[in-house]
Amino acid sequence: MRIADVESYSVRVPGASPPFVWRDGLLGSPPDGEAAVLRICTDEGVEGIAMAPRRGSAVILADLLDRFLRKELVGQDPLQREWLWHRMWELDRTEELPLYLLGLVDTALWDLAGRLADRPTWQMLGGFRTSIPAYASTVTYSSVEEYLDIADQALELGYPAIKLHAWGDARRDARLSVALREHVGDAIPLMFDGSAGFDLPDAIYLGHALSDADYLWYEEPIREFSITAYKRLSDAVAVPLLVAETSDGAHMNSADFIQAGAATFGVRASTQLRGGFTGAMRTAHLADAYRLRAEVHGPEIPNRHLCMAISNTTYYESLVMGNPISRESGIDAQGLVHAPTGPGVALPAGLDYPPVLQRFVDKGTLTPPKA
Ligand SMILES: [Mg+2]
Repeated sequence: MRIADVESYSVRVPGASPPFVWRDGLLGSPPDGEAAVLRICTDEGVEGIAMAPRRGSAVILADLLDRFLRKELVGQDPLQREWLWHRMWELDRTEELPLYLLGLVDTALWDLAGRLADRPTWQMLGGFRTSIPAYASTVTYSSVEEYLDIADQALELGYPAIKLHAWGDARRDARLSVALREHVGDAIPLMFDGSAGFDLPDAIYLGHALSDADYLWYEEPIREFSITAYKRLSDAVAVPLLVAETSDGAHMNSADFIQAGAATFGVRASTQLRGGFTGAMRTAHLADAYRLRAEVHGPEIPNRHLCMAISNTTYYESLVMGNPISRESGIDAQGLVHAPTGPGVALPAGLDYPPVLQRFVDKGTLTPPKA
């Protein structure tokens, strides 16, 4: 089997309604924009697709295909995923591919493999489970009182755990974190995601508060440029650190965080930021070797597949936004998300796809892209 053609499609993704805030200082929910879908066709009629949900991806992917990627891929064996994964890193050396597009070919090839076998991709990766608890991952709200209200709603909806994205002000965020622990009691797992809002002194200050309030993990408090800073943070605070979400280099970079002793809870795994399924599974296996977790980042469909395939992961990340919040589609009243059942990875429902992509849509899965 050989790759016969590679196409990109532009898919309009609406902005969140109502719009949400993302930490003081970052862009909030994006307005309407053009996501990209990559479609790989073969000479045997089997196809694979992958979506880059970030608005603006369509024009970038079309450019990459036209300049070199189509020429790279046509004629290749689509089942040689390892070769093509390494080839993408080789091309990245001169092109500096956007991190969120580096794994798109790999994701489409895993979709193709699933369609060829008529199996969901999580089974092709080696299935570990068929359901997993989803935590409520908040957007940024206006006050402590509103966060406590959102937490009550999340627990009422069945979410068993809550992760805060707060303001990026260490003292204000610490007060919120302590107030939330007092509000929900000791039994509810709580996590804090800094979205890289702090420098080292402020990260240490907040880390002490999270330690005292028994948070399960403290995620990405600092930009992931300095592993030394993370090592110093891990030396200073007791709360376990979850790191290497947005840093470049997939498992090759995660390895250095682990080696430095900075990944005291574990590392992040996602198709979008760790180089597709191949990079995410490598990252998970790396963490497993050190008896650490590889927690799956992000709510999109490919990450549901990862959650079912990675043994050393705990939760699916489900973004809750607006007020009142609602439970993401596909999560049941017990807060569990269940394994996808169709072949391959599939595309989320609810978007205005061109006719040629309609048959790849999982009509039961409505997961609006966040980015
Ligand atoms: Mg995060």
